[in-house]
Amino acid sequence: MNDFTYNIPLHLLSAYRQERLIVRTDEPAALAAALETEDPERIVGAQIVALDADSEPLNAWAQGLPLELILRDPVTEFPLLYRHSNLLDNHPARVIVPVAPGFGKAVKAAVSLDFAVRLEVGQPEPTLIEEMATVLEFYLHQSTVAQPIEYFHGSLQGFFHDEPVPLWVLQDDDPQYLRYVTDEGVERLSRRLADLNANIAPDAGLEAWIAQVLAAGEECQDCEFLKHCGGYFKWPRRDYDCAGVKRLFGHLRGAAAELRRDLDVGST
Ligand code: SF4
Repeated sequence: MNDFTYNIPLHLLSAYRQERLIVRTDEPAALAAALETEDPERIVGAQIVALDADSEPLNAWAQGLPLELILRDPVTEFPLLYRHSNLLDNHPARVIVPVAPGFGKAVKAAVSLDFAVRLEVGQPEPTLIEEMATVLEFYLHQSTVAQPIEYFHGSLQGFFHDEPVPLWVLQDDDPQYLRYVTDEGVERLSRRLADLNANIAPDAGLEAWIAQVLAAGEECQDCEFLKHCGGYFKWPRRDYDCAGVKRLFGHLRGAAAELRRDLDVGST
């Protein structure tokens, strides 16, 4: 077994008999049946890509296996989350919410049901930055939010402990360890880096990836948030204007400092 984890569609399972896998499907019942004979050690997670599917066959199956529910349209699909809440009885379950107009409703619905959330964020334009800022406020200040909303949660922790974690890790896009296999069977670094042909050693670590490829541009090298971001927002369009995402990082840094001050005051 190599060091990579492959995100594959269920119909390609037979082509990946030795590898560590995240298996995605729109047929949860078929997933449970297909993975019954697999070595549980190499299945590290499963993704359900159709929320109108019945996930009941997964409720008591492979207890403890991390599951992700992938929203394609956050505005129309978020009511479907309610029918999957039983998954939480036996699985750590997370909802992947694309950052698209109106996505905040889906985030609120997911956390109210006790799902963790990961924002699938591309290169947000100014109006979406405003929506992200609203969701960040919600995450930081609503006492009812008990579950992490990534990448905000991981970044906040990174600022708080002064141990930055690049977004490539927080967003499950780490080219050192992850490979994405398309429905047609084409192996990619990730969907974000789909068109990248990098001239880098196959066993390069994430630090080398960031320094040599992902954040090699001048703006990233001079960016105060380089260690927390890793050049994430410069992909796929290298000319993306980072002003808005830097503002969000600044907000997270400020919130972490405030938290630390509060704890210092509380301990004196
Ligand atoms: S915020 Fe923008 S400039 Fe800064 S490291 Fe990330 S992608 Fe590069």
